[in-house]
Amino acid sequence: MSENKGETINLVSVSRIRTKTDGEGVTTLVVSMGCPLRCAYCINPFTWDGSIKGKTVTIDELYNELKIDNLYFLATGGGVMFGGGEPLLNADFISDFIKKYKDTGWKFSMETSINVPLENLKKVIGLIDLFIVDTKDMNKERYELYTKADYDNFLNNLKYLLGEVGPEKIICRVPIIPNLHKDKEYEENVKALQEIGIKGIEVFRYINPSDRKEISDSTKENTEKFLNKLKKDIE
Ligand code: SF4
Repeated sequence: MSENKGETINLVSVSRIRTKTDGEGVTTLVVSMGCPLRCAYCINPFTWDGSIKGKTVTIDELYNELKIDNLYFLATGGGVMFGGGEPLLNADFISDFIKKYKDTGWKFSMETSINVPLENLKKVIGLIDLFIVDTKDMNKERYELYTKADYDNFLNNLKYLLGEVGPEKIICRVPIIPNLHKDKEYEENVKALQEIGIKGIEVFRYINPSDRKEISDSTKENTEKFLNKLKKDIE
């Protein structure tokens, strides 16, 4: 790891005045670059496909951008949502940011796939008020078909997080993904989450992949590989 770890973050965007999407209150979504998952139907491929560069900011520069909405955050019980890409690739930055600005009274949330080294997750436990976990699938075979990541690492991290923060601070999002979920696989996924003790579960229908606009060649290739594998499995 580099010596200046945690001092800066590479951002795609800062999206203000969000309501009803990130839990309680008005929130600002901080979208960071980088993601290890490579989901076949990624809706934010620019975070990893090299098509944009992002903007590097320091902890204080980000705070100066966020503080515009201080009064909204305080009046509504809202705050900052870290998303991506995968925000936990910036665990040092996020942890330092929250430690420095915890007295603001803002709520700090994170939307994450939690499929990162456990040490990254540990750095934000105790600092994040709400984890929105993007689960993809609770079946190892399907998870590893749809992403390029290790299911066991995801599951171990989810169980660890649950043991540390309890079910009140976790919402698991369960997508119904075109082609991957043809029947009622989402019900199996919900059941598997309930069995390990997750209480907050949101099922949602994932976008139709053909509605994605301006995707890069590497994103197209990623999607095609997935569809070809699915086809082979059926044959
Ligand atoms: S988790 Fe999947 S959908 Fe989200 S940015 Fe990463 S690759 Fe894309």
